[in-house]
Amino acid sequence: MPRLLEVESGRVLAPGEILVEGDRISAVGPSVPHQAGAQIIDLGDTTLLPGLIDAHVHLFLHPGAEDLQTVEESVPQRTVLAILAARDDLMAGFTAERDMGTEGAGSADTAVRDAINKGLIPGPRLRISGNAIDILGGHEDANRFNPEQHVLSNATYANSADEIVAAIRQQHKEGSDFVKIYETGPDVMQGGALRTPYQYTAAQLSAAVEEAARFGGVVAVHAMGEPGTLYAAQAGVASIDHATQLSDETMRIMKSKNIPAVPTFAIFEYFMHESAARAAREGPFLEYKIKEFKRQVAAGIPFAVGSDVGPFPHGTQARELELMVKYGMKPLAVLQADMLNGARLLGWSGQIGQLKPGFYADIVAVPGSPLEDITAVEHVSFVMKGGIIERMPQALR
Ligand SMILES: [Zn+2]
Repeated sequence: MPRLLEVESGRVLAPGEILVEGDRISAVGPSVPHQAGAQIIDLGDTTLLPGLIDAHVHLFLHPGAEDLQTVEESVPQRTVLAILAARDDLMAGFTAERDMGTEGAGSADTAVRDAINKGLIPGPRLRISGNAIDILGGHEDANRFNPEQHVLSNATYANSADEIVAAIRQQHKEGSDFVKIYETGPDVMQGGALRTPYQYTAAQLSAAVEEAARFGGVVAVHAMGEPGTLYAAQAGVASIDHATQLSDETMRIMKSKNIPAVPTFAIFEYFMHESAARAAREGPFLEYKIKEFKRQVAAGIPFAVGSDVGPFPHGTQARELELMVKYGMKPLAVLQADMLNGARLLGWSGQIGQLKPGFYADIVAVPGSPLEDITAVEHVSFVMKGGIIERMPQALR
């Protein structure tokens, strides 16, 4: 009989049973009513968890030259790959994700999200940003190409508060749920510390937050360090992604406004293993990031879990939870960051992230005990999303 983790309390029910009716959980406990005609699935020696949440993905990216793939591959071609990526993420146990920008595929993510919602293709529940927003010559612009070729940015240009508002309106018209803004870059290590210019002022980010709120949306930022991270916190963004360098004042605001940092260790680690040259460049960044992360954990700021998957293979990103444990968090704290803060960040509080009556039946099974060995989450054998079985263990097929 499987065990069941109550994420909020950290209590493990053994055995743990879940009754699913329609797309929702209707009962949870050591034993639930076995109704006549119900299909009974015994997942054996596993632990049942709520579906995993990845708060930072790129369905429209795949391994290999990130800036060139977005120039060479057409949007239809990239959309086909995004559909496969969504399936791979779901099969790995990620039943909800926040897509942080199509990187030059416009609002093609709208079509992917809508097709998943209609049950036409398998994939996680999605919150999508459309294309991200960035300044001219900013982090995501095609700065290294011949200017006469007019290679465009992977993000949408906006150079003032008015232009940010216009870009947000266009993206929302095309189906976006939230706004992704590049707030810092390019990054350099200087004298053992990260230096990264900010892109928008706190006032400009506030204009974005206000405009997004108008339609019930939020703003998430790519922000590696100060002062961009401070400006983002002051503006009241929903999350600070990458969040390598956070000042004491920034962390104070993040705690008081409950703004999670999304560390994205998995992408940093992946680039370390890409090539010797890349490792030499990224090594000092990762070392610095780990040191700062330990400070952030000690300061008690909220975290959510996002891997930045896309540049590395979809379906492998549960590694992010392992890395957050490796660098200083307890397994239960990482699972709570993933599921409780993830649900809130994606706007699905009370709907996903817990195994409780009334919640969506988004359920995964992992071997062993993730509280003792977090790597269990990298071996999901069963996936249910909204009451539909998406993946069955080999032995039960
Ligand atoms: Zn990203």
